[in-house]
Amino acid sequence: TDVFKLDLDTPTYKGTVSVNTGLFIDGKFVNPVKDDSKIEVVNPATGKVITSISAGSEKDVDIAVQAALKAYKTSWGLKVPGTERGRILNKLADLIEKNTDEIAALESLNVGKPYLVSKHMDIPNTVSTFRYYAGWADKIQGKTIETNESKFAYTRHEPYGVVGQIIPWNFSASSLAIKLAPALATGNVCVLKPSEVSPLTAQKIAGLLNEAGIPPGVVNIINGYGNTVGAAISSHLKIAKVAFTGSTLTGRKIQEASAKSNLKVVTLELGGKSPNIIFEDADFEQAVKWAAMGIYFNSGQVCTAGSRIFVQESIYDKFVNALRQAAETRTTQIGDPFDQATQHGPQVSQIQFDRIMHYIDSAKNDGANILIGGDRHGNEGFFIQPTIVTDCKPDMKIVREEVFGPVAAVIKFKTEEEAIEMANDTSYGLAAAVFTENNSRAIRVVHALEAGNTFVNCYNAIDINVPFGGYKQSGIGRELGEYALDTYTQVKAVHVNLGLKL
Ligand code: NAD
Repeated sequence: TDVFKLDLDTPTYKGTVSVNTGLFIDGKFVNPVKDDSKIEVVNPATGKVITSISAGSEKDVDIAVQAALKAYKTSWGLKVPGTERGRILNKLADLIEKNTDEIAALESLNVGKPYLVSKHMDIPNTVSTFRYYAGWADKIQGKTIETNESKFAYTRHEPYGVVGQIIPWNFSASSLAIKLAPALATGNVCVLKPSEVSPLTAQKIAGLLNEAGIPPGVVNIINGYGNTVGAAISSHLKIAKVAFTGSTLTGRKIQEASAKSNLKVVTLELGGKSPNIIFEDADFEQAVKWAAMGIYFNSGQVCTAGSRIFVQESIYDKFVNALRQAAETRTTQIGDPFDQATQHGPQVSQIQFDRIMHYIDSAKNDGANILIGGDRHGNEGFFIQPTIVTDCKPDMKIVREEVFGPVAAVIKFKTEEEAIEMANDTSYGLAAAVFTENNSRAIRVVHALEAGNTFVNCYNAIDINVPFGGYKQSGIGRELGEYALDTYTQVKAVHVNLGLKL
């Protein structure tokens, strides 16, 4: 297999990055069965190809599943005590931590994220997620259940066996940890497909698995396209569960493939069009800052992005003006992801860039007002200006569909009831936030919002030990926290006869 190596001499990272470009199956990097299949990896800050990596096929997925099945029977699963699985996951966390700078550089090179954000948020979160679930590995337990004197009944929380995992590009390292860590802690073995857009961090972490002591076959990483490798994972007969993060459109295909194959358990973390409600009695300056961060962080490429900002009539003009200033400031922080001052990087790909520009055009054509932004930034790479759209009507595409870019739709409301009704008028239900200094209103409104992740006087304040997931068409099941353990285990009831005779 080939190795990609690049020397970087940037203001924030000086050093070499290197990853193997092969598929990682049964503890080794290998070439795909169809040797010539490659995916080009692009630097979104320049639009230029960085390298190319191997693309797997259905056959490679099958080889990985066979390796995983063998590992499950011989060297992982309930064969290995939880304390030992936890020890190994902690070792992996240590190795990732040791390689933080290089992994962060790969994340920034490939996803366009500011290096200092990758280094101080993404990779530390990745490490913490492995440590958090390492701690759970020896605390997976069932219950004993009283029935009657002649019977002993208890439950076991058993792993599924081989789980398939398909992840997107926007948080390429931490999504990998959110998938692998709870699956491995509970004793499952994994076949994971990174996004074809952002394979490099997964390749680097794959290269650390053997040293961490993860036995061959326990984790297999197969790069490739959704309609080949992704489809093969979701329809494989020996994969018992699939965990997916990505768009609602693809989530639907995965459910369908499961239904048509072996009814594998499906958990989905999907898209959103999340409401952020600002009442007139909010802490004004804080609300503006959180709202701007809620939509512009990661260049708007966040599933929970607060992309519909509802503002109460009496403060509407003042708020829009302040948000505009926040967007102007953010525009001055656009730049090379490896510069010290950069807070705002490019969109991840030409496809995403085009999609977002299409949404901005649709807003213009539908009669909305582009208050600020609305255009590309600079003349290379996939940068888009932080954008605010006002004068929106409820049926406009810009209000109904996920843009996945730095575009806020701002909408005026009069009463609390109206705000709740408009906020819930969506097929999505991933996140929602409310800003008010009135505590009873905050709780009343947050309870009425149809979303899985809700915030009071903050936005996107996500923690790895708090469950994360969507209502409505934003998903099925929960990741993170103790709740994720349930989605990686199946409950076996054991009834033991203590003397009942027939
Ligand atoms: P996507 O659905 O296009 O791709 C996600 C993954 O699915 C990729 O690995 C892709 O190759 C794979 N895939 C594509 N077609 C497939 C198929 N037919 N069968 C199986 N796999 C297939 O999404 P994306 O563009 O990578 O990511 C953006 C989307 O992800 C947004 O909608 C965003 O909201 C969502 N997202 C959700 C969360 C969450 O936790 N809820 C987190 C991040 C991103």
